[in-house]
Amino acid sequence: MTDAQMYARVLASDADFDGRFFTGVLTTGIYCLPSCKARKPKPGNVRFFPTAESARAFGLRPCRKCHPDDFARGADPVLESIEALVGEIRQNPAAFADARAIVRRSGFGTTRCFELFRRHYHATPAEALMRARIASARHALLTSDTGVGEIGFAAGFETLSAFHENFRRLTGLTPAAYRTLRERATTSFALALPEDYALTYLRHALARDPESRDVRLEGDNACVAARLPGPAVLRFTLSPESIAVDCPAGTAVEAHRIAVGLLGLEQDAAAFARLARKLGFARLVAHAPGLRISLTPSTFDGLLWAVIGQQINFSFACRLKRRLLERCGTPVEDGMIAPPTATDVARLSADDLLPLQFSKQKAGYLLATARLIAEGKLDLDRLAHASATRAERTLLAVRGLGPWSVNYLMMRALGFADCVPLGDTGVTSGLLALMHLDERPDIDATRRLMSVFSPYRSLATAHLWMLNRTVP
Ligand SMILES: [Zn+2]
Repeated sequence: MTDAQMYARVLASDADFDGRFFTGVLTTGIYCLPSCKARKPKPGNVRFFPTAESARAFGLRPCRKCHPDDFARGADPVLESIEALVGEIRQNPAAFADARAIVRRSGFGTTRCFELFRRHYHATPAEALMRARIASARHALLTSDTGVGEIGFAAGFETLSAFHENFRRLTGLTPAAYRTLRERATTSFALALPEDYALTYLRHALARDPESRDVRLEGDNACVAARLPGPAVLRFTLSPESIAVDCPAGTAVEAHRIAVGLLGLEQDAAAFARLARKLGFARLVAHAPGLRISLTPSTFDGLLWAVIGQQINFSFACRLKRRLLERCGTPVEDGMIAPPTATDVARLSADDLLPLQFSKQKAGYLLATARLIAEGKLDLDRLAHASATRAERTLLAVRGLGPWSVNYLMMRALGFADCVPLGDTGVTSGLLALMHLDERPDIDATRRLMSVFSPYRSLATAHLWMLNRTVP
């Protein structure tokens, strides 16, 4: 970044840049985070530093308002208090009657509390509460024999119909049907689709690589080779009202989790459509009505795409992914291959990957990241439940994962709703066409233009990708 770009972030008090640089103010002798709300220094009095240490070495003191050293140490008291609050909500959702109760408990004002939930959890307090209630009910359905109604009330639902309606919307099943997934004998179930569900995009996602070794679509029948956790094939039968799923005995809970992700059931496509229309971008939605993002079957699959897909075109990325599966995946049936685990990839060396046409750099990043996961130093599944801010910071600290890969991984595999893979040419081409821009937006302009779609920037990204192609 140039000094002018950094100064612009300082004027905007842009917290997204906290930690990426520190602002030294030569007249006062202090240094700050870009988000500092103290009076803005004149550009001539400012000097930028890459780290807090370099600012201190220059003789500057940490600001008492924005505490740059706490941030550099990884401490972030406001984030920690919101994370603790969400922890409480997840632990006992029934203790919170509604969003107002969450705001009261947070100790922040309403506007600030909503802003913090949006920034750190990509959700409103009410959405976070609803998800916590459903997760708590799911857990109780699988692990106890308590009656369904009692479970709904214990999760904080006031009426049985609200429990059923929301449970079905987010899981595709009734609570009673969900409970049967725990039986070993359950080898099939059917997910009900919302009325406005558009199968087109699920088909598109299942067929995007016609030669794929782990995902196949023929007519209304799809197969997905996955880890449940053992390598196996899931079979899907598509119809406009429901998706029937067949799975091996003893894997129904995991098969259901994968199916809900593939279908994107937890995404609020209708809310994004309303926002886009309100902003005057009805065309973006009209081009692909009901679009949802199909999540990868596992977080490690998402990581494979995020590393393999960097800086190369889609068909080449598909070829590299297929070759990797053939090299270290597990053959299942009908020529399908279950994708490798991190441990499988960690066993390889660059000499295994270079002949598959991986670049030296890509091979290095892939192996290093797979080893971090295999050694338990990076837990992608846990990050899917962390705050978005924590997930992003943790992933950005991994060598080889830049902002594009991290945000791609967060939206395609971890299920976060408000991500933009900055630097993505599909996004910038989409913005060019949608907003009739004169030139392709740079990273800063992309960030600014995309901000209007918050907290649904992941769906906005998926729509921009679609804008440049004809949906089959
Ligand atoms: Zn400050």
